[in-house]
Amino acid sequence: MDFDDSPAEAAFRLEARAFLEAHAKPKDINSVGHGGGLVAGSEAEKQHVREAQQWQAVLYDNGWAGITWPKEYGGRGGTSVQQMIWNQELAKFDAAPGVFAQGIGMAGPTLIKHGSDAQKARFLGPMLRGDELWCQLFSEPGAGSDLAALSTKAVQDGEEWVVNGQKVWTSSAHYCDWGILLTRTNVDVPKHQGITYFLVDMRTPGIEIRPLHQITGIAHFNEVVLTDVRIPAENMVGDLNRGWGVTMTTLTSERTLIGGNAAITSADVIKLVKRSGRGDDPVVRERAAGVITQMEILKYMGLRVQTSISQGTAAGAVSSVLKLGYTKLQTEFNDFAMSLAGASGMLGADDDPATHRRAQQFLNQWSSKLGGGTDQVQRNIVGERILGLPGDVRADKDVAFKDIPK
Ligand SMILES: Cc1cc2nc3c(=O)[nH]c(=O)nc-3n(C[C@H](O)[C@H](O)[C@H](O)COP(=O)(O)OP(=O)(O)OC[C@H]3O[C@@H](n4cnc5c(N)ncnc54)[C@H](O)[C@@H]3O)c2cc1C
Repeated sequence: MDFDDSPAEAAFRLEARAFLEAHAKPKDINSVGHGGGLVAGSEAEKQHVREAQQWQAVLYDNGWAGITWPKEYGGRGGTSVQQMIWNQELAKFDAAPGVFAQGIGMAGPTLIKHGSDAQKARFLGPMLRGDELWCQLFSEPGAGSDLAALSTKAVQDGEEWVVNGQKVWTSSAHYCDWGILLTRTNVDVPKHQGITYFLVDMRTPGIEIRPLHQITGIAHFNEVVLTDVRIPAENMVGDLNRGWGVTMTTLTSERTLIGGNAAITSADVIKLVKRSGRGDDPVVRERAAGVITQMEILKYMGLRVQTSISQGTAAGAVSSVLKLGYTKLQTEFNDFAMSLAGASGMLGADDDPATHRRAQQFLNQWSSKLGGGTDQVQRNIVGERILGLPGDVRADKDVAFKDIPK
């Protein structure tokens, strides 16, 4: 296989690079940034969201938002290879797309595949332009890895559905406009068969958002309590009680997004080593080479997943391998950065902002091991679907939801 750019790909890369050079700031490994996140509701967070939205609008207006999204929905209609080239070029600049992960990265592909024409016309444009921000209301206190055990209830009332329940770990809910929401609509059938997928306006009366504080000191995610929240029937995605199939599209997009979102580049690792002044140390060189090798492997694995998605074949379990690879890389890179920092890794933001940022990222690495499906659950998927090992025990699979002991 030839990994060099074809003439057409090289032309695309030059075009992308020229656009980024004209519109974005180059990345600075020494910049303070926000490492593990920003304080919920703070002015710094509001500023970050505003800047991300402004940047997304620039991308949209210049035809660079949604490289692989169909042109009819405002995307570029590009290929997975172009997406990878874009990611490689973007990684050299200070322009993080994180604010749009649940929208453009997850809700968007789901609506493109399962949404009604009216939903596509209403939501995809503002989503891709960054005008409306989205969150994911899936996990519950009793339903995380076993997401199909969710119990937030939706009951039909005329042209509306009335929702009651509690969601948890809802990233960014405090500044989002819309949410993708999973509900239980039939308790008389096994758990996967009674779930319905909705789009909910986060400003609907009855939605209460409470921040959850993390080890880094910030509150990136929330508990969301829904009390008699009324959702118009036209906001149902896919068919009644068939939400699990729709959910699979969202979850596969999420794993691919997390796995394909390796924002660290080889140049970052080399700069880190040079900054430490230990570039001649053979142990340091070996660890740096190990991290860079993993990055390269992930890059091609990401391309494989992107290719299957763009060819319309399900990426399936390979996206779990990609996500596992990403979390392993995060751990090794952050451990390496902290070992180079030594005792100064304990310094606060006022004493050494750059090292403090690395320490925040070190603490934040556990987020990616859990979010989007834990490492253990990804290993189960790989074991069962790729290696053909015996399946996990699923005693409640064929039992009506109402009969499962809670
Ligand atoms: C940073 C971050 C952001 C998130 N954002 C969102 C969001 O925006 N929206 C949302 O809906 N959710 C979100 N989540 C929730 C995330 O999807 C869940 O944390 C995840 O699915 C795990 O669920 P849980 O926390 O309930 O853990 P549990 O499912 O209770 O798992 C606890 C432990 O048991 C292990 N375990 C569970 N089942 C098995 C099994 N069958 N085999 C082996 N081990 C098992 C797990 O690996 C884990 O170590 C986020 C989580 C994080 C960390």
